[in-house]
Amino acid sequence: MSDIFDNIEPMVHKSRIHVPYHWWAGETASRFLVSLRDDQKILGTKCAECGKTFVPPRKTCPTCFTLNEEWKEISPRGTLVTYTVVRRHLASLPKKPPIIYGLIHLEGADTSLLHIIGEVKPEEVKIGMKLQAKFAVERKGTIFDIEYFRPEK
Ligand SMILES: [Zn+2]
Repeated sequence: MSDIFDNIEPMVHKSRIHVPYHWWAGETASRFLVSLRDDQKILGTKCAECGKTFVPPRKTCPTCFTLNEEWKEISPRGTLVTYTVVRRHLASLPKKPPIIYGLIHLEGADTSLLHIIGEVKPEEVKIGMKLQAKFAVERKGTIFDIEYFRPEK
């Protein structure tokens, strides 16, 4: 079987695509982000059916499919559930590696929040360690209004 492309040398070009865009975070994420920015408070939503509290907040319970209309302030303290260390530099990273990404189970929540762990060396991080949120001095309404989570003092 022959193909019309059999005798064509495959050419590969390196390039970059820059695609600026804006999107609305939605009412649930907006309320969460405004609370981080203006009040330095972490909010979650609670399902009236099963009682689960979601952080980050979810508009709808993924188990019960009911609207989560109850908002709760969640503790800025929690426990590290798991983590990974990123050592390779990529343009999309928020800062220079090594970066420790952790899943933090905040007190009062039933889900975990993915965030950066700071003020600790990668070799000193332990699953189960107690962490607390460190809010950024200059907050802009993004998840990085929590600058990172650090070992509890
Ligand atoms: Zn539910």
